[in-house]
Amino acid sequence: MTHVLIVGSGPAGLTLAIELARRGVDLRIVERSPRPPGGVRGKGLQPRTLEVFDDLGVIDEILATGAVYPGLRSYIGDEVVWEGRMDELREPSPGVPYPNVIMQPQWRTERILRDRLAELGHRVEYGAEVTGVEQDAEGVTATLATGERVRSAYLVGADGGRSTVRKAAGIGFTGVTHESERMLLADVKARGVDREHWHLWGSLQSRSLHFSLCPLPGTDIFQLVAPYPGHDDLAALVAEHAPHVRIEEIVWRSEYRVNIRLAERFRAGRIFLAGDAAHVHTPAGGQGLNTGVQDAYNLGWKLAIGSEALLETYEDERKAVAEHVLGLSTRLYREGDHRRGDDTNQLDLAYLGSALSVGERGGERLGAYFAEQRGTGFLLLADRAPGFASTAEIVLPPLDGQRGVILVRPDGYIGYHGDESGLSAYLSGFGIAAPLSSAAR
Ligand SMILES: Cc1cc2nc3c(=O)[nH]c(=O)nc-3n(C[C@H](O)[C@H](O)[C@H](O)COP(=O)(O)OP(=O)(O)OC[C@H]3O[C@@H](n4cnc5c(N)ncnc54)[C@H](O)[C@@H]3O)c2cc1C
Repeated sequence: MTHVLIVGSGPAGLTLAIELARRGVDLRIVERSPRPPGGVRGKGLQPRTLEVFDDLGVIDEILATGAVYPGLRSYIGDEVVWEGRMDELREPSPGVPYPNVIMQPQWRTERILRDRLAELGHRVEYGAEVTGVEQDAEGVTATLATGERVRSAYLVGADGGRSTVRKAAGIGFTGVTHESERMLLADVKARGVDREHWHLWGSLQSRSLHFSLCPLPGTDIFQLVAPYPGHDDLAALVAEHAPHVRIEEIVWRSEYRVNIRLAERFRAGRIFLAGDAAHVHTPAGGQGLNTGVQDAYNLGWKLAIGSEALLETYEDERKAVAEHVLGLSTRLYREGDHRRGDDTNQLDLAYLGSALSVGERGGERLGAYFAEQRGTGFLLLADRAPGFASTAEIVLPPLDGQRGVILVRPDGYIGYHGDESGLSAYLSGFGIAAPLSSAAR
């Protein structure tokens, strides 16, 4: 029996697969589509996602092939009427090593994650659509369109907004679909605009955008965004508002319908939901792809350890974050606000109310010791190694002014903060076994 079957190979499914693979967990990842999808789609990688990508071992390639967002340039006809930026570029600091949003077409982010997964010995199984899911006390049985039945201890639906897994598990998806609010997205080759700016016709603020053209780093493609229904003929739309611009080729196009929905549960027994399968929202604030990556990063180490007490915290922690993100992206969308900053970079998201967060600083993102945080283990910030076998692989000096010991979870959040005497009970309470204790540094 496979330990974890991951359904869907978008950013959430791939992140989870890497998290499990590097911990040696037996997994399969199945994908309905016969080949990797195209399309720029989600293109903004938030600072917190970049920290995760650092830990997963893909940050060098993400940074080498991506770029910070270009400046915005707004036009009436051929005339530039406004210039500005969506975000203020910041310098890295020890607590925030990746302060700026990085632009990457989603197909490349996924390719980089797939390559990393291949290094770890796993491949996505394409053309493998899950059509049915059933569970019993011992495991989950997924039926594939090929007729194969796959038995696994756990199954994760990372199969996007229309999730088959969510429906099969009987989990409601509460919210609204704005049929009238749609956007056309197209990857195009265009002439007459430079690749140093994001070009806009119409006003973003008043949401009366005619269309925009955003250059994607390392490609000759622009992502064109326009309200829809509108012009079906993109070349005519562009010619009407921007006489000096020509669309030479449409490489990919799709419609984006504004959905704001949240799964009623993120877990039903042995079935978990992650990414768009659990929450969909407007593209404002660039949160969609990023929130799915964080779901997977939260779930991976918990599935690897596998205790019931730990698995129960997934829904509590991630549903609260998803509710917050839905509210944020809806507000930004309604206000036509395209700025990026502290409220969208996902660095301040914390698990303060979680059962896993104990003590004054429990639930906070650590924001220190970044090099030491790479890898799959826990960190202990203490004067000395504890007097019992600890799961913490590395013991590091306490933070300035720190009282008591701090145990940092594998996903970089503080789990336990308090007296050393309470640590052993905390670990055993969550079934975090004590495989080793290593020397203090
Ligand atoms: C046209 C478009 C434009 C977008 N623009 C933006 C943007 O500008 N900013 C932003 O942040 N986000 C954007 N998004 C959203 C972003 O792409 C998603 O939030 C992100 O892809 C979610 O990742 P995921 O891994 O949860 O799901 P997905 O990327 O949707 O991946 C799910 C995968 O599961 C597969 N699958 C589905 N059903 C099954 C099944 N039954 N069996 C097996 N496999 C299955 C699908 O083929 C797919 O590959 C856009 C999305 C679209 C479609």
